[in-house]
Amino acid sequence: ATMPPLLSAIANAGRHGVLVKSAVVMERLGQVDAVALDKTGTLTEGTPRVTDVRPLPGSGGGEAELLVLAAAAEHPSEHPLARAVVDAARARGLALPVAEDFTSTPGVGVTATVDGRKIAVGVPARLLSGAEDAHTAVAADLEDGGRTAVLVVADGAPVGVLGIADRLRPDATATVASLTALTGHAPTLVTGDNPRAAARLAAEVGITDVRAGLLPQDKVAAVRELEQAGRRLLVVGDGVNDAPALAAAHTGIAMGRAGSDLALETADAVIVRDELATVPAVVALSRRARRLVV
Ligand code: ADP
Ligand code: MG
Repeated sequence: ATMPPLLSAIANAGRHGVLVKSAVVMERLGQVDAVALDKTGTLTEGTPRVTDVRPLPGSGGGEAELLVLAAAAEHPSEHPLARAVVDAARARGLALPVAEDFTSTPGVGVTATVDGRKIAVGVPARLLSGAEDAHTAVAADLEDGGRTAVLVVADGAPVGVLGIADRLRPDATATVASLTALTGHAPTLVTGDNPRAAARLAAEVGITDVRAGLLPQDKVAAVRELEQAGRRLLVVGDGVNDAPALAAAHTGIAMGRAGSDLALETADAVIVRDELATVPAVVALSRRARRLVV
């Protein structure tokens, strides 16, 4: 028998390195007329590195102590930023104490008890609200340089800031251009990262609609808003923080290599070969298959 067009398209998508979970999804991909892209791990490679270690004056500790506290607390986390912090500590040959009472809040950061101290690591403004705190100038300086600033708090006091940087995927700019051509307008950037780093990266790839500092439920609200404007939205993301938005959107695609298990399970399709350029490719495949079906 000749294979039905949508099943051939699924097989074809598989050859491109995209796992499309059903014929219904294969069909929906072709209906998409707007795209929202996550930043960290989606437009960027998702293998960020610690570039700056800045203990705060008066915190009583040096660079090594700051890294040890942060890395011990981050050790149980699967977030790409957590892996960057742990790798930085390992690269300096630092021994990490075992953390207890680990908790993780998507879009915010982690908490744990390390050597009897209560440590929090994550978005500066979500961990401490005081605008005139010692860390804010340091964090703003790092963010102006395109870094993600990660604050480390010990027993309620800021002790230091880490600067983390990730590289743009080599096919990010071309993918944004292809998606713009396919849908008639540029994708939206939806990110939990800070507005300064987000704006910088968006300008580099040709995105003007930037939504930054978003918690997972804010990403869902952004999806709803875009779809209420009559769009059929494709969301592409990798993290636990993207899972609700992947589920809420008309269609969701997860980045497979470094993606979280939750994102992979929730998404309608998974990019297995780790190339962002496969996103416009499968949308085009679906459009072609739909023309054959109708
Ligand atoms: P994105 O939407 O760009 O993929 P996330 O929502 O995963 O980003 O994270 C948003 C922000 O939350 C990060 O930029 C970081 O500041 C903070 N964050 C989240 N998880 C962690 C973590 N494990 N360690 C440190 N910071 C974290
Ligand atoms: Mg992400």
